[in-house]
Amino acid sequence: MQKIHQCIEQIAASAQPLAASGRLADYIPALREVDPSKFGIAVATLDGALYTTGDADEPFSIQSISKLFALVFALRLVGDDLWERVGRLPSSSPFNSLIELEKESGKPRNPYLNAGALVVSDLLSSRNTQMEMAVVDLVRKLSGNPAIAYDPRVAAGEFECAHRNKAAAHLMKSFGNFHNPVDAVVSAYCSQCAIAASCKDLAAAALFLANGGIDRDGRQVLEPRQVHQICALTMSSGTYEASGETAFTIGLPIKSGVGGGVLAVVPGFGTVCAWSPPLDATGTSAAGLKAVELFALSMKKTVFA
Ligand code: GLN
Repeated sequence: MQKIHQCIEQIAASAQPLAASGRLADYIPALREVDPSKFGIAVATLDGALYTTGDADEPFSIQSISKLFALVFALRLVGDDLWERVGRLPSSSPFNSLIELEKESGKPRNPYLNAGALVVSDLLSSRNTQMEMAVVDLVRKLSGNPAIAYDPRVAAGEFECAHRNKAAAHLMKSFGNFHNPVDAVVSAYCSQCAIAASCKDLAAAALFLANGGIDRDGRQVLEPRQVHQICALTMSSGTYEASGETAFTIGLPIKSGVGGGVLAVVPGFGTVCAWSPPLDATGTSAAGLKAVELFALSMKKTVFA
């Protein structure tokens, strides 16, 4: 539909200036070097169409967006048993906070906090010798792009600085909620976060969530009940302590990452992914989130009718 293309071009023009209000993630060395003016949007729809603007084809570091795909993997593997080791409650703490973890006996509030994602990595590591490659493979299959890989330089740089993530893993180990060697799992987690994919890839990869769990090739990736669980969690925790506000203003399941990607699911319609590296104070792309908000607003005004 020509209208969708026009719409995302207008959105790009309105949202991109917000990048000036954000700052690049500086605690992962390679992310400091990214060009802050990059900006792209991709929209994938259930009829198989894809609409893009700007740098939507350029791979970027997906960081915490990878947590969504790791969660898909874990739910496929162990189903509801996952919830014995990680909760599904929102948190008002930042993604790398350890405060609740100590108070709540080493059970992270949700799988999108770093501690929760580390439990998921630990669980996947117990069943895969290279859990990061299992996540890479899943993203490749779901997106239809076999060239997707993780960037070892980004991963190695993060591992060197991953003091909080290592601390979270040790803390959980002290409570019996972490089974594998800390360094091995944190290293695999850093590699998973260092997956490089474009807006186009991510919009395509998440499309099954807008389609009751069925992917482009008709495969049932998750049961509809699990899709509901992931969408609910992504809406309530996908942008960390900003999730309540994000749900209030946008009202969609949205996952962000400190690489500047913002991925949203529009159930029954499709997906939208925006990328702009400068982040707001909670670690979500300032312009990327605005782009998704404007997209959601356009849909409500039924410009595509
Ligand atoms: N790899 C990052 C970290 O562990 C992911 C954080 C994010 O994207 N919010 O800190």
